[in-house]
Amino acid sequence: MPSSAPARCPSSSSRPPGNRPVAEQPPVPAWHTLPADEIAAVLGTGPHGLASREAAERLTRSGPNVIDPVPPPPWYATLLHQFTSPVIYILLVAALVTLALEEWIDAGVIAAVLALNATIGFTQERRAERSVRALMGLVAPRARVIRDGHERDIDSRDLVPGDLVLLESGMRVPADIRLIAVNGLVVDQALLTGESEGVAKSADPSPDPATPIAERSCMAYSGTVVVRGRGRGYVVATGMQTELGAIAGSMRAQELPATPLQERMERFARAIGILVAAGALASFVLGVIVGESPSQMFLVAVALAVAVVPEGLPVAFTIALALGVRRMARRNAIIRKLPAVETLGSTTVIGSDKTGTLTENRMTVREAWTAAGTRPVPPPGSGPAPDISELERLLFVTGVMTNEADAFLTDDGYETSGDPTEAALLLAAIAVGLEPADLRAAPVLADIPFESERQYSASCRTWEGRTAWFVKGAPERIAERSTRMLTADGEAPVDRAAILAAAHDLASRGYRVLAMAWRPLEGPPDLDDHPRDLVFLGLQAMMDPPRPGVREAIRGCQQAGMRVIMITGDHAITASAIAAELSIAPPGAPVLPGPEIDSLDDEALRARLREIAVIARAAPEHKLRTVRALRADGHVVAVTGDGVNDAPALRAADIGIAMGRSGTDVAREAADMVLADDNFVTIYAAVEEGRVTFENVRKVTFFLVSTGAALLIAILASVALQWPVPMVAAQFLWLNLVTNGLQDVALAFEPGEKDVLRYPPRRRSEGIISPLLWERTVVAGIVMCIGTLALFRWELDQGASLEAARTVALTTMVLFQNFHLGNVRVERQSAFARSPLGNPFLFYAAAAALGLHIASLYLPPTQYVLRVEPLPLEAWLRMIPVAASVIVVVELHKLLVRLRGGTPLYRVVVRRP
Ligand code: ADP
Ligand code: MG
Repeated sequence: MPSSAPARCPSSSSRPPGNRPVAEQPPVPAWHTLPADEIAAVLGTGPHGLASREAAERLTRSGPNVIDPVPPPPWYATLLHQFTSPVIYILLVAALVTLALEEWIDAGVIAAVLALNATIGFTQERRAERSVRALMGLVAPRARVIRDGHERDIDSRDLVPGDLVLLESGMRVPADIRLIAVNGLVVDQALLTGESEGVAKSADPSPDPATPIAERSCMAYSGTVVVRGRGRGYVVATGMQTELGAIAGSMRAQELPATPLQERMERFARAIGILVAAGALASFVLGVIVGESPSQMFLVAVALAVAVVPEGLPVAFTIALALGVRRMARRNAIIRKLPAVETLGSTTVIGSDKTGTLTENRMTVREAWTAAGTRPVPPPGSGPAPDISELERLLFVTGVMTNEADAFLTDDGYETSGDPTEAALLLAAIAVGLEPADLRAAPVLADIPFESERQYSASCRTWEGRTAWFVKGAPERIAERSTRMLTADGEAPVDRAAILAAAHDLASRGYRVLAMAWRPLEGPPDLDDHPRDLVFLGLQAMMDPPRPGVREAIRGCQQAGMRVIMITGDHAITASAIAAELSIAPPGAPVLPGPEIDSLDDEALRARLREIAVIARAAPEHKLRTVRALRADGHVVAVTGDGVNDAPALRAADIGIAMGRSGTDVAREAADMVLADDNFVTIYAAVEEGRVTFENVRKVTFFLVSTGAALLIAILASVALQWPVPMVAAQFLWLNLVTNGLQDVALAFEPGEKDVLRYPPRRRSEGIISPLLWERTVVAGIVMCIGTLALFRWELDQGASLEAARTVALTTMVLFQNFHLGNVRVERQSAFARSPLGNPFLFYAAAAALGLHIASLYLPPTQYVLRVEPLPLEAWLRMIPVAASVIVVVELHKLLVRLRGGTPLYRVVVRRP
């Protein structure tokens, strides 16, 4: 279909030779036209792949297999960004007006505020953005290759031309590959061709060199995605030499999207801006009415607006978010989508896979069951192989015959690659004295690889002179496809009840149970049909121990008000045994079987999900419906997934979590967060960091709003009382500099409070400032306002000059703000519960601000600009206790709230009928 062909479709021969592996070869051939064996010869490779030494050597020539990263936005864009907030517009206007009024000092101070704000904003934002970019999606892509004749998982950056690569569903193709064998391989090439339908691949060359990329069926191009099936092929180009590399330059850098909270925050700041503008206008009008000079009042109004508006908020927010991303990365949770940082904190349900997330995914076969009885299976290499019957031999052989994993002996024992379930079967066969490598030499006629929704796999092979299907899978699936079973006395009719009873018995001890069956054939296999009429052989039971720490993490989640639901493809009995061990559900608690979900309507499913904690035999679509039902029930849902088919559920969840090690590329790309260690404990850690991040944003906001409120009320009150204004314009701006410049940013660095995980999740609808904190804002605002005005009045009444009284008012406010920092740092507990040095950045920022202020009282230039004068010791002795009162009052508020179980006090009044 030429219409869907790419605009630009170079034939490979027109490209520079780049990383051609064998120097004396003619120009790069059109790979898709050559037969497979010729490709191997040209690339100097073969069906056993490259030797590692050869690969290492080639790597130095071809360079790492990476597409050059897209550059971040240029510095001037970030700088300009600092001047685009409404607050800055107000400041710019104010600077112009003060210039017009020839108020040089105020104009200078405003300019200084502007410059300082831009500098802090610029450097912090750039740092934050850089670290977010560096940390997001930081999961090294993996590739499955054959090196030294064995399958290996390697970092895909180490791929070189000539490598023999294995592809399977869910993988992103790691380089340009000439396929030499496929099994139902379907690839989504949208990234390259824009065509969203999957394309079936084959190993046959297309003879015409001009075949457009979209139609080269024997090529799998870097960046495209395997939708279904398996394939293998030789790497022909890596990194910038790939077709993707050729167009990478045209892909634009992406802006980091704003998170919902960020947007809410911007709206919040705007609302505050309007409020403040109204307040400033009111003070201007009031002041003029009571007889202050309009130009003086105008300056005060503008300065007030500037001092009260929380312009530090967006920068502090960006930093808090970046720190959150960093802290999460340090704890193995890699954020791919920024909003996840804040959503994590309000997660109410975690739906977790069992295998590999709650358990180690290190399976070992411990017992084997056949009609002749049960036998223990020793670990491989632990001694002489036990004697096994012919029936048992066939059981273990079948486990090897339909198997995609690999096991090989190294200096430290057996190493495996591939699906751990399948690897366990290989090791079990070795343990009973079989040679997997020999068995697998049996020619393959057909192969049905394992996919979750089928719950079994099968291979048709010729072995020991006959052709047979070898099948393994979930016991129910295999039992229902069997009509006969092998016993010690030969074939008999299948006894499904006995099989299921044996499987049940093993599963209730926490084993994962796989059944094996075979079907010797008379004639050639019917490859279009799946094998049935099987002869049942037996069961292999494997143990997958829970990961250390998971039990504690689950308890922690439950204490933090989150539900944990185990969603597993495993058998209900196995699932509930593990769930009980991990205290996800009490022993014997009901389990929801996936197939039952199909028969429930949405309403019924929601109801069922309220009572169960384990979903067993779940297929990916059950996970998707579970996520949707939970969300419809008002939950904030985090869910894990690893397969291709998990992608819809990951997208549907509030937080999709993919596995960094065992997950497919497709799952990782659909996810909001990736677990670098596949471990459930990491989710718990990420939730904690999510909550800390949100609390820090809240702390910054609370600090800025409560100090701003104090100033606003103080000015309005003084004007209304017909007192002189307690501060001049330059002093407001100074307050803004001294308090907003560093402390708010430093608050974003607060380490988490110890009790963050002892409270239920924050409701997502809850504002940045909770009702409780609004109440505290008013309380603290009033204390600071009264304290400031009282000392100001007292000075005036004692006959102090207006300048001296204003100096006292300003200094009192500065002290208030520094004391108030202590209140802000701890939301629920006493401020004294935290060491002041717990956040050294904040401590030194506050100390620096205070030092600067004291210095300004004594240095002539600042004395002149700020119109301040040195204060006598008695003044300090009055100011310090007054300023400390804000701690006392807020401590009292915290205590009362604690006594009332966390409810704001105003509810007492409101609730009364
Ligand atoms: P989970 O990994 O959560 O147990 P899966 O969907 O991978 O879920 O597996 C579902 C069921 O399919 C397992 O309980 C097991 O009976 C069977 N099964 C798992 N892996 C394989 C495999 N590689 N080959 C055959 N059957 C398998
Ligand atoms: Mg699995």
